[in-house]
Amino acid sequence: MIRFDVELKSLGLFLVGGPTPIYTHLDITVHRTRDPDKNVYVPTIPGSSVKGVLRSSLSRVAHAFGIKVCGDWPQASDDCDSCYLFGAPGSEGRVWVSDFTGERSTVSLTHVSLDDGAGTAREMALYTSEYVKPGSIFKGRIEYNGGVERLAPLLVAMAALRTDRAGRSGLIDLRIANADQLRGVLSGLGEYSILLEYLGVWAWDEGV
Ligand SMILES: [Zn+2]
Repeated sequence: MIRFDVELKSLGLFLVGGPTPIYTHLDITVHRTRDPDKNVYVPTIPGSSVKGVLRSSLSRVAHAFGIKVCGDWPQASDDCDSCYLFGAPGSEGRVWVSDFTGERSTVSLTHVSLDDGAGTAREMALYTSEYVKPGSIFKGRIEYNGGVERLAPLLVAMAALRTDRAGRSGLIDLRIANADQLRGVLSGLGEYSILLEYLGVWAWDEGV
């Protein structure tokens, strides 16, 4: 098993909780979960949400990297790197993604509710929604339980996530915090080892 210690950084404002998100092919959702050690609530991105985004990011760039995904190879899912990594009906996949927990501090926005949604003015009410600040970091891990020959598509998925839209509110950067330790473990990657270098530091940097 190969363990990637992964950090995600929000590059926009991400709504915490709120109405159930409409699940599109690409969405990062943020919930509030209780940290049992500290007895506080922290913004959390569910692992399933991260996994879904990795899958769709891989599909987006698969062609350019010569990676086989279902759309191109409608045979058994054995032939599809995306199904192999992230699972398919009847198979679990070789990638496991933890929940990602963020920093406690958030910003809130107070709204005035002016109508009942149908455009008719009713009683005015104030309500607040909560957002994760740009630059907030979420920590989690991604574990890989498959053959080294199919590890490259996973790194490609992580790299592609950095330039994909996440939710309605912006982008997410991704960094492999333990890239230095993995360099030896992943030495069989050949030309793809450049992806490990690429993913070891933030892609999005402050402007100069
Ligand atoms: Zn597939």
